[in-house]
Amino acid sequence: MAAKHFYLQTFGCQMNVYDSQRIVQLLTARNYQQIADPAHADLILVNTCSVREKPEKKVYSALGRFRSLKEKNPALMIGVTGCMAQQEGERLLERVPFLDFVLGTKEFCRIPEILDAMEVSRFRESATDLRVGVDPYAGLPLFSSPGKAAAFVSIMQGCDNFCSYCIVPYVRGREVSRPSRDILDEIRSLSDQGVREVTLLGQNVNSYGNRSSEEIGFVELLEAVQKIPGIARIRFTTSHPKDLSWRLIQAFGQLSKLCEHIHLPLQSGSDRILKRMNRAYTCSEYREKISELRRVSPEISITTDIIVGFPGEDEADFQATLEMVKKIEFDEFFSFRYSDRPHTQASLFPDKVPEETKRGRLNELQTLQKDITLRKNKTWEGREVEVLVEGQSKARVEEKTGRTRTNRTVNFPGASLRVGELVKLRIEEALPHSLRGDLEEMGK
Ligand code: SAM
Ligand code: SF4
Repeated sequence: MAAKHFYLQTFGCQMNVYDSQRIVQLLTARNYQQIADPAHADLILVNTCSVREKPEKKVYSALGRFRSLKEKNPALMIGVTGCMAQQEGERLLERVPFLDFVLGTKEFCRIPEILDAMEVSRFRESATDLRVGVDPYAGLPLFSSPGKAAAFVSIMQGCDNFCSYCIVPYVRGREVSRPSRDILDEIRSLSDQGVREVTLLGQNVNSYGNRSSEEIGFVELLEAVQKIPGIARIRFTTSHPKDLSWRLIQAFGQLSKLCEHIHLPLQSGSDRILKRMNRAYTCSEYREKISELRRVSPEISITTDIIVGFPGEDEADFQATLEMVKKIEFDEFFSFRYSDRPHTQASLFPDKVPEETKRGRLNELQTLQKDITLRKNKTWEGREVEVLVEGQSKARVEEKTGRTRTNRTVNFPGASLRVGELVKLRIEEALPHSLRGDLEEMGK
């Protein structure tokens, strides 16, 4: 039977990228082929994000573009998965009349079943059961990532922290850890396929296994991954500062495969705002952990997330955030304007910051960090680094691209290098968002 074609667009975080790869795998097993042009697709899927207002708007405009395709080809099926699907459910079917199905964050594995049923008779479906305690990946075939040097591996779902601005606990459900046996089997199988680097994913990886007396903890999980032959590098994201244990900090000095990078979302440099955000740590506790990380692993690269314009954030709070960013000198950050999210506590706070103020603050913060990032990148000039070859450079096709252990992107000439090779490069030039390296200079 001739293969059918599907087009998949993914919005949002690494967790969504991982889920999308799972979807590709499920569809490929059903004789569907992924294509890059939606105009030739039998099925269009949009895997969505609702963590802020902006990605949500992007989803509606993406869907708008597919309307004319459906008008030309009524047999075309269009489905929405992910966080926005979870949040909106039926409402999304009402709002987008040409949509065929909406599958929530724990229902995406039902895509093949829905496609089979729709071949018999067309109907519209919304499934958004959050199934407390259920691991959505249980029973799925082992995850595959052919031809890739680096892969994400989801180790847990959901979150119990209820930061007052965050929609994640409502759209990904309560925290549930995947069994370590499944995770380790998945990583062994990825290693057999040639994957050299794994990034363990969860909203708060530090609490991995805490909800079950039979499960190992996060550091034990890292130790077990360290023992898997073929895997050369381990990363994880995200770690909540309140739960970043001293034991995990020590692991950076003990596990040779654990890369020197941690993403540790600060969110604000004001204790008053952190309290209103329900983050459960203070700035001085955060800085203490940073000092310890740098003591254990002096080269460690530290990145963060910051929200500006949280309700009630005044000029003094914002100045405190700028001060904190200056003092800590993050290697890079993601920064966001606060936006109200449904269900969250903060959406009910009365003292909202005007959009214009938020825009100005974001600009000031990003200008400050731009200089810090470049200055930090410059410290790598002239040094030798280990880089994992990940593919062709986007900017120059004749070049290769990869990352250092500290998670910096490096572009370099290396036509004969294979994806998955670990190479030593000399850093020739630091740019605002990447480094340029050279193999030729080695050994001189
Ligand atoms: N679990 C991670 C953590 O604990 O920080 C990340 C969660 S979220 C997917 C990624 C980032 O989005 C957050 O760290 C936060 O900076 C940002 N974010 C979440 N909700 C937001 C909101 N309502 N407005 C603006 N930014 C938000
Ligand atoms: Fe959201 Fe906070 Fe959970 Fe991160 S820890 S996912 S910011 S509720």
